[in-house]
Amino acid sequence: EPVLVLDGVEKGYNLGQPGEVRVLRGASLTLAPGEVVALVAPSGAGKSTLLHIAGLLDTPDAGTVRIAGQDMARASDRRRTAARRADIGFVYQFHHLLPEFTAAENIVLPQLAAGTPRAAAEARARDLLARVGIAARADHRPAALSGGEQQRVAVCRALANTPRLLLADEPTGNLDPATSDRVFAALMDLVRGTGLAALIATHNLDLAARMDRVLHLQDGRLG
Ligand code: ADP
Ligand code: ADP
Repeated sequence: EPVLVLDGVEKGYNLGQPGEVRVLRGASLTLAPGEVVALVAPSGAGKSTLLHIAGLLDTPDAGTVRIAGQDMARASDRRRTAARRADIGFVYQFHHLLPEFTAAENIVLPQLAAGTPRAAAEARARDLLARVGIAARADHRPAALSGGEQQRVAVCRALANTPRLLLADEPTGNLDPATSDRVFAALMDLVRGTGLAALIATHNLDLAARMDRVLHLQDGRLG
């Protein structure tokens, strides 16, 4: 069963008004468990709109959004929020870590919110940090970390509650090429072998080429 299915998704802004933009015009994709897919699009093509719809942060005007077999496009807000928390992890271009908390705490907190006991949450946080090569940074606050380390923590946080789907919007967009490479390699190490599916928007065609498949978003469609 696919982790994510988008079928004929349409989304526009200011429809029927001045300033109308039709961003998605029948966008479709199927993401199987374990698949890592690059989303490549020129700026303004609708990449963030697509990721927000796939991540149940926004609703399409038409079309289907299925997460793990459940049709979520027109589900209640309560069901969409529950599915987002249980099944989806997000990474953005900026890390959005909580500045007052350590790297480990930033990964512990979403697990506590999901009902994981503190000891297990701590152990998982430290294990994730070790797997991305920054165990020694666990007790540092985000401001004390490099940009690449901050993004590695953000990736660990996104995976803290073992989602089925990882959505990433330019996760290495703020990093220099060498750091970007290392963060991407760390992300792939965490994803591989877990069955997690990932849709990763990037302008970096070298990174895109290292994923299983590349989808281009153009004229509101994916191909
Ligand atoms: P990308 O992430 O590919 O740069 P976005 O999905 O952010 O593209 O935006 C796609 C298009 O939709 C752009 O033309 C943008 O200006 C427009 N847009 C995005 N959000 C809104 C909004 N809330 N209201 C009006 N237009 C929007
Ligand atoms: P961009 O990728 O365009 O820079 P942001 O990273 O600022 O966008 O986040 C896009 C929007 O999604 C923001 O309004 C943010 O608050 C919201 N958002 C991000 N993650 C979540 C989440 N897990 N649950 C609810 N809203 C979220």
